[in-house]
Amino acid sequence: MTLVDPHGRRINYLRLSVTDRCNLRCSYCMPPEGVPKLSHAALLSYEDLLRTARAAIAIGVEKIRVTGGEPLVRQGITGFLKDLARLPGLERLVLTTNGILLPEMAGQLRSAGVESLNISLDSLIPETFHSITRGGDLNRVLAGIKAAESAGFPFVKINVVVMRGVNDAEVAEFAAMTLDRPYRVRFIEYMPTLKEGNWQALTVPAAEILSRLASRYTIEPVATDSLAGPAAYYRIAGAAGKIGIIAPVSCHFCRDCNRIRVASTGIAKSCLFSEGVLDLKPILAGGDEAALREALRLVVNTKPARHRLSAAVPAHAPVAMSQVGG
Ligand code: SAM
Repeated sequence: MTLVDPHGRRINYLRLSVTDRCNLRCSYCMPPEGVPKLSHAALLSYEDLLRTARAAIAIGVEKIRVTGGEPLVRQGITGFLKDLARLPGLERLVLTTNGILLPEMAGQLRSAGVESLNISLDSLIPETFHSITRGGDLNRVLAGIKAAESAGFPFVKINVVVMRGVNDAEVAEFAAMTLDRPYRVRFIEYMPTLKEGNWQALTVPAAEILSRLASRYTIEPVATDSLAGPAAYYRIAGAAGKIGIIAPVSCHFCRDCNRIRVASTGIAKSCLFSEGVLDLKPILAGGDEAALREALRLVVNTKPARHRLSAAVPAHAPVAMSQVGG
C-alpha cells in the first residue's frame, strides 16, 4: 500500500520513540535542568508500541526507526526489537543511539534484526564532547562504533549536529572518518528546538558546511534510495564512506519529508514542529485496530507542507527532542 500525504509526498517512515529518558544531557536537546521524567505508566507498553507499528505498516510504512530519549536505556529493548523486526511488511528496522551502551549491546541489536544504527557524535575532542553532552565519555561512543562494526553492521551512520563556535571547526576531521571506513557521517544543521533566542548564531547553514568541505576535499554527489531520510549524500573522491548533509533549517528538508513520529507517550506528530498532535493512547486503550490505522492516516493527512523554522522567532513551542523522539 502506498501512503501519500496531501502534498503528494510518499510517507513510508515512522520514527517510534520508546522512552523519554536518556543517559546524556546534550545541551541542544535538553535544558540544563533536564526534563521531568515521565512515569512508567505514561509510556506506551511494548505491546502498544508493537500495535502502533503494525497499524503503521498496514497503511504503508516500510521503515521504522526506534529512537528516544536513549532507546537502549529502556529495559527489555532487545526483545522488543526482535518482535518489531518480525512484523510482516516491515522492510527496514533501524535505531538511533548515543552509542554509550553500544559496547555491550551492539551484538544483541544486530541479532535482534536491527539493520543499521545512527550514532550521535558531536565532537571528537573529549573535553568538547563532555561539555556538549554534559558529562559524556567520548571513549564509550568510539568503542561503541567499533562494537557496531564488529557486530556486523554493514555501515554505521554518525550524526553530527554542527554548532558554530562549539564543534564546527571539526567538520573536516569528521569527514575524514569516511576516507578509510564505510561510515556515513551526516552533518545536521542545528535546529532551535528549545527555542533559544540566539539560535541563528549557532546554526551553520548546509551550504557553508559543504563549501568548507569542498575547500578541503574533492566531493561528489551520491544518489539515495526511496527509503532514505532527508539527507543529501556526497563522497570524498575515492573514500570508503559517504558524507550526508541534513538541512532542516536552510532548505528543502520538508520537500523530501517521508516521516511521521510517535512519541513514547503515544503522541503522534506529523511534523517535528507542528502544533497539531494526536494522542493515540485512548485509541490504543479502546482496542480497535481499524481506529488506530485511521488515526495514523489522519496524522499523515494533516502533515503541513513545510515547517516554519526559518522565522526569527520560531512559532513552535519548545520541543525537547528527548521527549518528542529525535
Ligand atoms: N539518544 C539518541 C541519540 O542521541 O541519537 C536518540 C535521540 S536524539 C534526540 C536523536 C537525534 O536528534 C540526534 O541525532 C540528535 O543529534 C538530534 N537532535 C536533537 N536536538 C537537535 C537540535 N536542536 N538540532 C538538530 N538535531 C537535534
